Amino acid sequence: MGTLFAEKRSGDARTKLMAGILFIISAPSGSGKSTLVSQLRTLVEGLDFSISYTTRAPRGSEENGREYHFTTCDEFQRMVKAGEFLEWAEVFGNFYGTARAALSHAESQGKDLLLDIDVQGAQQVIERLPEAVSIFILPPNPETLQKRLRNRSQAEKMTDEDVIERRLSQARNELQQIWKYKYALVNDVLDNAVDEMRAIVLSERGLNGGIAKMAKSCRTDIASQRLDAALRSFGVASAGSAQ
Ligand code: ADP
Ligand code: 5GP
Repeated sequence: MGTLFAEKRSGDARTKLMAGILFIISAPSGSGKSTLVSQLRTLVEGLDFSISYTTRAPRGSEENGREYHFTTCDEFQRMVKAGEFLEWAEVFGNFYGTARAALSHAESQGKDLLLDIDVQGAQQVIERLPEAVSIFILPPNPETLQKRLRNRSQAEKMTDEDVIERRLSQARNELQQIWKYKYALVNDVLDNAVDEMRAIVLSERGLNGGIAKMAKSCRTDIASQRLDAALRSFGVASAGSAQ
């Protein structure tokens, strides 16, 4: 474990900026982040989801390569040493990390990338890629969080009151970090929270590309193929041949 932390402090000059938007989503465990994200992905196109690496064991119906890449401590450590992670952290006694390859994969697909990571990992990504759009999801109150944690563990037949208590107290710690995030979203009524999340993504796309890109495509000094074709149809010289 000591080796892993030593690696974590070493400098990182190889973080590559991606062309699309990088969305970071963090939430105390049980807030409903996975539920929200899976709904968001059915509503918004062009979002790639980074599948993290973890040393924890699969839970319930989880499958290797779908929810996580489940891996051994040795392999995780090898990846840390090889600089294969954009960020990594120890959460509830297990290691979790985002592979740098997730950035290039999203970029090659021309998609935005969504990271579902804890507050420590989010802090690392915000420092390395300050243009990332960070969103913190929180439950409306601790009672609701407790209820959701309990329901989920009952559904997965793994109820452990100690684990629930630890997650509740961790939630209070994580909430202290909320002001480092650009957006905060209270997941009370699921449909409302999904609408809000969708609005954040679409609005950021407008701010970061969509609207600006559209305006640029209308500029006469750039002259789109569409403008050229229209001008040609009138027998008017295209921008390239104008005086
Ligand atoms: P997380 O990914 O943040 O750990 P989950 O998405 O697994 O949380 O949600 C925890 C539990 O709460 C699940 O049983 C889920 O169905 C439920 N849940 C999520 N969002 C809501 C909501 N808005 N209202 C009621 N239950 C919810
Ligand atoms: P869980 O084990 O309940 O799926 O996740 C526990 C916590 O680990 C959650 O807060 C989740 O966001 C976080 N997590 C999942 N993947 C990563 C990752 O790649 N990096 C970091 N830093 N946290 C992660």
